[in-house]
Amino acid sequence: MVNQNIAKAPSVWMKSAAKTVTFMVTEDCQLRCHYCYLVGKNAHTRMDFEVARQAIDYLVENRDLFPEQAIVWDFIGGEPLLEIGLIDRICAYIEYKQRQQEHPWAESYRFSLTSNGILYDKPAVQQFVAKNRDHLSIGITIDGTPEKHDLHRVYPSGKGSYADTARNIPLWLAQFPGASTKVTVASDDLPHVADSVLHLFALGIRHVSINVVFEDVWREGDERIFEKQLLELADRIIDGTLYAEHTCSFFSEHIGQPVQDNHNWCGTGRMLTVDCQGHFYPCHRFTPFSLARKEAITIGNCRDGIDFNKLRPFLSLDRFSQSSEACRTCEVASGCAWCQGANYDYADTDTIFQRATYLCNMHKARVRANNYYWYKLKRKLASERCQ
Ligand code: SF4
Ligand code: SF4
Repeated sequence: MVNQNIAKAPSVWMKSAAKTVTFMVTEDCQLRCHYCYLVGKNAHTRMDFEVARQAIDYLVENRDLFPEQAIVWDFIGGEPLLEIGLIDRICAYIEYKQRQQEHPWAESYRFSLTSNGILYDKPAVQQFVAKNRDHLSIGITIDGTPEKHDLHRVYPSGKGSYADTARNIPLWLAQFPGASTKVTVASDDLPHVADSVLHLFALGIRHVSINVVFEDVWREGDERIFEKQLLELADRIIDGTLYAEHTCSFFSEHIGQPVQDNHNWCGTGRMLTVDCQGHFYPCHRFTPFSLARKEAITIGNCRDGIDFNKLRPFLSLDRFSQSSEACRTCEVASGCAWCQGANYDYADTDTIFQRATYLCNMHKARVRANNYYWYKLKRKLASERCQ
């Protein structure tokens, strides 16, 4: 349904035309979020500039291997803003190298960061934002109401981080008005879902990207709590006409139908992650730092480049090759996500071809609430047109 009265989520820059290269610049973070999949956070492992320089040289000098017309240079941690000086130096080198090589990326690149927001107002961060504003996107993760946020996003002492993140939201939104935030929902924060999305809207965040975790955390009955929350959220968004300027990714016209295509869910393998030591991975979820049960899977390093034999299994991943018969024939499969890294971490063997489906009941609950949302919204808009 195309309707000018309904806000649209911001589109992804260049979508699949862009290569995404992620630098894991530090294994440190101020927080110890309960649902964080990163293991072994520490204050001493950080990327050396020379590692980043070698990786950039390899990528920019090998156009035949990386023919994408655009590139997103992405920085994560731990908390990337802890290393803003290093990131600034890396970005300056990227710009120099792209120009020096007369690479098409010099005209088509973005820098991207996802942060907990605690350091966002610091002078070094603000100087970086001012310098790179035209080709920069920064996401700040805030989980919703203070109660929900502080349930999981805590300092090592156990103290919640809501106040330290929320204080920087106005500045962030003034600089990036269309920015969206990513919210993660686990079992014990289900009762806060509706209030949290509405709280983020009230803070001025117009687009909330929200998902339930892929991990094995769901308890019997969670799907009923979740569905009730989504129905309440649907009513409050529609009755308050919030849909005109806000979006919440739980509600999408494209979920809950049989799937015809055979694509993999995510871009693992087509993207590239570089860790602090200069090892290459198909995505950051395959680094040793991100896996709780399995060995990391490396596909090369910044000195020798990518080993394409190691990359091949990732490029052959598709929906059918990793899904059970139940998922392949599922009537509501569209929008039912998986994470390749989580699949691998939970698989019975060292395979990447086994899909974890712990969120099955949660997806079905979402589909039911989503159907309710669109039915109610379309009826409301139709009746307004008749008036
Ligand atoms: S996990 Fe469940 S809801 Fe998702 S595609 Fe498989 S059967 Fe369908
Ligand atoms: S493997 Fe997981 S973390 Fe990596 S791109 Fe896919 S969904 Fe994202």
